[in-house]
Amino acid sequence: MGTGILTIDLGAVTENWRALDRMTGTGTETAAVVKADGYGLGAGRVARALAQSGARRFFVAVAEEGAAVRQALGPGPEICIFSGHMRGDTDMIGDLMLTPMLNSMDQLTRHFEALPGHPFGLQLDSGMNRLGMEPAEWAAVRDVAMSQAPSMVISHLACADDPNHPMNGFQLGAFREMTADLTCTRSLAATGGCLLGKAYHFDLTRPGIGLYGGAPFSDAAAVAHLALPIIQIRDLMSGEAVGYGNTWIADDPARIATVAAGYADGLIRAMGNKGFLYAGDVACPIVGRVSMDLITVDITELREIPSHLDILGPYQSVDDLATQAGTIGYEILTSLGARYNRRYVG
Ligand SMILES: *Cc1c(COP(=O)(O)O)cnc(C)c1O
Repeated sequence: MGTGILTIDLGAVTENWRALDRMTGTGTETAAVVKADGYGLGAGRVARALAQSGARRFFVAVAEEGAAVRQALGPGPEICIFSGHMRGDTDMIGDLMLTPMLNSMDQLTRHFEALPGHPFGLQLDSGMNRLGMEPAEWAAVRDVAMSQAPSMVISHLACADDPNHPMNGFQLGAFREMTADLTCTRSLAATGGCLLGKAYHFDLTRPGIGLYGGAPFSDAAAVAHLALPIIQIRDLMSGEAVGYGNTWIADDPARIATVAAGYADGLIRAMGNKGFLYAGDVACPIVGRVSMDLITVDITELREIPSHLDILGPYQSVDDLATQAGTIGYEILTSLGARYNRRYVG
């Protein structure tokens, strides 16, 4: 087998969902965000596992993703679309019973005209300036929109990964003000908001990254394990160079393993000469540049040569790897490539 083995622990996903659910009161429902193909780990498999564990609402970014999740789940669970009701999406939304989060007066009009009586939610902008209706627009449409019985009203926090950020309280106040007196389901918190405490939970939370084992949910169970096969070993004399551009030169005699994955598999070039792979608990530094299909690793310290080296595993989390590469766990996960041999466990 010449490709990396990506093992996805669905038991850990459901464990994380339950742990996030326990953080909120019994009156708060916990949904699941499975956009971007379940943060790169397989939206259908993740959604089915969570539905079996009791999740009843799922969120995706666009209607096409909603169609795939509907196919995996069948009728029943609510599948919500963050980007709302876009032109051309009407048939998909109608036929597959998707629930668009309407973001503007234009989307509101489009939805009510094209699919009268069809479920919808509303997204409000409490300060992030990305999606949703701002206070003035909301004030203008609020009565009409509420008369059509939305399934929920949501907003999204910009800085929830930093519990001390003043933006959290500001957005909480703005959301409260915009939704005061509403009786429908209200939702503000993603993973970060779940960790901010009761005031942020409202009726429904929408965790994503925490389900998949990523920060800011620091107690999450690891979900993704990625082992890369060693293709070839070379013994270098001091002064010899490794990889494109000769960016790494051996100071001493060194043993270099070449493993089968590269930036085409989502292991970004920024890991070159920075990150580590693991043989058990022994860290082996990446040396030289990451190339399209290959990474070179200094295994001089190893007594025995393993068949594989772990790049995600018990000794290196998604966030450890992200930090080495100057990015975030979200980007590491959603970049995981299509060439891996994917195995689902749990
Ligand atoms: C992506 C997203 C979420 C989930 O965020 P996490 O930080 O992954 O938990 C929730 N709500 C909205 C609007 C999003 O875009």
